[in-house]
Amino acid sequence: MNKYLTVFSFSPVQSFIEASRKLKDLFTASYILSYLTKETAKDYQDSLVFPMEVKDDSNKANWPLANYPNRFVILTEEKVDCEKLKENFNNAWRGIWEKVLKYLKDKYENFPEDQFKLHVQNYFQTFCHCQEFIDRDKWKQLLDYKEDDNEDYGSNPYVYTYDIAERILGSKKSRRFYKPLFDKYKHGDHYPDGCTLCGERLHLALDWKELQNKLPKGYLAESEKLCGVCLVKRLAWDEVFSAKNQSEVNFPSVEEVAGIKFKKAFIDKLEKDEDLQKSIENIFELLPSKFKINTNPIFIKILEEDKNIPAIDKFASFVNIDSEVFRRFDDEFWLKELEEEYPEEIGKIKEAFNKLKQLFEREDLKGYRHRNAYYAILLADGDDMGRWLGPKKDFRGEELTDEFHKNFSKKLSDFAGSVIKDKKMPFLPVYAGGDDILAFLHPLDALDYAYEKVEEFKNTLWGKGSMSAGILITHVKSHLQMALKYVRDLEKKAKNFKRISQKGSLCIGILTHSGNFRSVVLNWEDLDTLKKLIEAFKSEDLSSNLAYTIREIKKLTDKNVIGSMLKRYFLRKSVNPESILSLHEQVFKNFFLDKHEFLASKALENLLDALYVARFLARNVEGFENVQGV
Ligand SMILES: [Zn+2]
Repeated sequence: MNKYLTVFSFSPVQSFIEASRKLKDLFTASYILSYLTKETAKDYQDSLVFPMEVKDDSNKANWPLANYPNRFVILTEEKVDCEKLKENFNNAWRGIWEKVLKYLKDKYENFPEDQFKLHVQNYFQTFCHCQEFIDRDKWKQLLDYKEDDNEDYGSNPYVYTYDIAERILGSKKSRRFYKPLFDKYKHGDHYPDGCTLCGERLHLALDWKELQNKLPKGYLAESEKLCGVCLVKRLAWDEVFSAKNQSEVNFPSVEEVAGIKFKKAFIDKLEKDEDLQKSIENIFELLPSKFKINTNPIFIKILEEDKNIPAIDKFASFVNIDSEVFRRFDDEFWLKELEEEYPEEIGKIKEAFNKLKQLFEREDLKGYRHRNAYYAILLADGDDMGRWLGPKKDFRGEELTDEFHKNFSKKLSDFAGSVIKDKKMPFLPVYAGGDDILAFLHPLDALDYAYEKVEEFKNTLWGKGSMSAGILITHVKSHLQMALKYVRDLEKKAKNFKRISQKGSLCIGILTHSGNFRSVVLNWEDLDTLKKLIEAFKSEDLSSNLAYTIREIKKLTDKNVIGSMLKRYFLRKSVNPESILSLHEQVFKNFFLDKHEFLASKALENLLDALYVARFLARNVEGFENVQGV
């Protein structure tokens, strides 16, 4: 019987996801991509070799997590019509944008429908190849092998078929055709500028002030002018998916990610103090709606975890106050901004803020002051995917067969499923599928969480799985789109380091509010040393005044001199010389000596970056460990 292997993929993906102003854009973009793959492959659910459906029986708080990658592989006995798959894809995409278009036409007279269609209909490109099974001879013939190579890939035709199918798909992708858009639409006499979100297309030719007024609050920000694609992304959740899933999802802000540890610690306090509960309720009443949020269900689960309280409802007022209020109630600069923005409500705002000031002057609440403005984005993906599914046997230890490929996909989906089900860690997954994870976390959880997942991934793939990851720690006011680009770069750096060091790697970057950026690259086994370093800064066993030391060390080239200079710095303040000396040794070895082979002259910079990152996490991110359980 004949057999066919079909590979399908589409693009763009990264730019579609990254053009996000808020978390909701990112979730929606990710969800749309996942939805498109699922819909395209819908007639072939039983024939999928990759991906396998992610089983999520726990259905984490009804969280609409995206978990289909932007490609799939199917194995069939009949030839698959690639045109039909492309049609499925286009229908699924049209199903989304048509609903958004209809909604917009109802809201806005003379909506520029033609320009909108020009944008959305030309956005995605699909690639598909259906390959009839071939054997080794045919494979060699197709690749034009002149001489006999000695590599034995086995006798199963699957390996040759898959290899050829991927090669042909790859060449189709590289030949993809860029169609310039003839976007000549204008509004009145005005030609539009670039879309304020993606910058890739012009924004739609319409009166944006008017559209903003006609849409529900929060759909469009002041001065936002979007292209058709970005407008679909912005509206698709509310106007397409939430109706379909019949579920309301409250997308949290990054401010809530940064504030999660504070809220968790403070609930413990509230539980034991009814007067405090009343004060907070009173403050809640005073605050205008701008400062009230609908807490996301995953966050509620995180807040409820390990607690005896029956439901978070009891503390709803507290939980639903925007974390920014607790972080900035004594920020005069913010108050000035609010004064201009909310002239009518400023009296009540001031009253509420003053009450908070008084409250947090209480001796027993001093340790609870929330000041953390940083959150983390984790982007991790599996290493060696090409080797796992390549023709060579050595890495895998067996021939590549369809059973192996299916089993491998199943393992990946089990892993993605475990990411979704994991309730131990306070994190917010955006995407978990294929061999990728994208999640938002509190910075102090990010390192442990990433490490835990990497170990799990290793075990999932027969003890041989390896992941590399980028973690960006950044300010809540950083541009999300920029932050996503940074974390993508960090992941790439980690991947590069994995390639040269042959070990799963991690790259941690700090992007401050003022735009300073530093990053350190390490192997997973060095993480423990980094954590000890953070602890040493936290306990002030290490002086946080690094500037002078760094300036001095930077001038040096001799390894031994660098080592002794660093030792002097470590010993300067320490009250515990023995432990600090052993830490010095580890830091010097893990971040400098061991890395020298791969980073050469940049190893010194990496050492200094490790110190910077550790100090930053110790000094700038509050974890409330000291008040927990008090
Ligand atoms: Zn755009």
